[in-house]
Amino acid sequence: MTTARLAVFGNPIGHSRSPEIHHQFAAQHGLDIEYKPLLVPVDGFDRYARTFLTDGGLGFNVTVPFKQDAFRFVQSASPAATMAQAVNTVSINEQGMVTGDNTDGAGLVTDLVNNLGWELEGRRILILGAGGAVRGVLASLLSGDPASISLLNRTTSRAQVVASHFGDQRLGVVEAHLDGAPFDIVINGTSAGLNGELPDLPSHVIGAGTRCYDMSYGSTRTPFLAWAMRSGAVSLADGLGMLVEQAAKSFEIWFGLPVTTAPVIERLRTSL
Ligand code: NDP
Repeated sequence: MTTARLAVFGNPIGHSRSPEIHHQFAAQHGLDIEYKPLLVPVDGFDRYARTFLTDGGLGFNVTVPFKQDAFRFVQSASPAATMAQAVNTVSINEQGMVTGDNTDGAGLVTDLVNNLGWELEGRRILILGAGGAVRGVLASLLSGDPASISLLNRTTSRAQVVASHFGDQRLGVVEAHLDGAPFDIVINGTSAGLNGELPDLPSHVIGAGTRCYDMSYGSTRTPFLAWAMRSGAVSLADGLGMLVEQAAKSFEIWFGLPVTTAPVIERLRTSL
């Protein structure tokens, strides 16, 4: 059996947990894979991608800042990737056709609904941020049939561009001084926490029944989740489950095999 060669392209990439996640998935099926983190120069995506695939790579994941480069690079893109204009999973088939997918949204929704048991249908959702991660998850969240999704971003014009790209009447843009009833679910999709910062928003968006999710994760509670807890949220979750679930969808695209994610999430959690 030949070793399947996979990678994750990013810059920076040293922090990536994807190699250990995919090696654990492969072990579940007794598959022999080599999955490496690849530090790609910011202007080098196409060159690295072409070389990796020409040298026999089966596919690769893509993380910051290359998801849009990957969308432009692939020959065909899935509906999820096309809506997001961003690709996090590249694969090549036997005819040499290079396809791009975006599994972030499916990963998030699987974590919210299957792992955490948070219903989306009929819920009012507030999303903080309007960058690549948020664009990547909107289509999947909308397909969960929420009553509304409000986007709040530090740069409001960016949220407006995203909302008009999706053109869904349930999707709207709000500003930091919004008023009104608390939301059912608040999702932080900003990178503010990476610098220990907190997006600007009033605590009345949180009520006694509000569930808060941070796409970021870490060994300690993220600044957003610490704030949500102080503000009285009923449930808190970070993005570790999303990370493993989006990886599971990538693995399925490459190998056509399902994986069991719970033990992988658990092991990752204890090693943070
Ligand atoms: P981008 O750089 O594309 O977007 C960053 C977003 O964060 C923008 O909306 C930006 O606002 C906002 N932001 C940055 N700093 C601040 C701040 N100090 N206060 C308020 N808003 C701020 O990043 P991504 O969308 O790719 O990633 C966002 C987060 O999601 C990251 O933490 C990433 O790790 C996480 N992520 C997690 C995944 C998982 O599987 N768990 C998958 C993908 C991403 P503005 O437009 O005003 O600049």
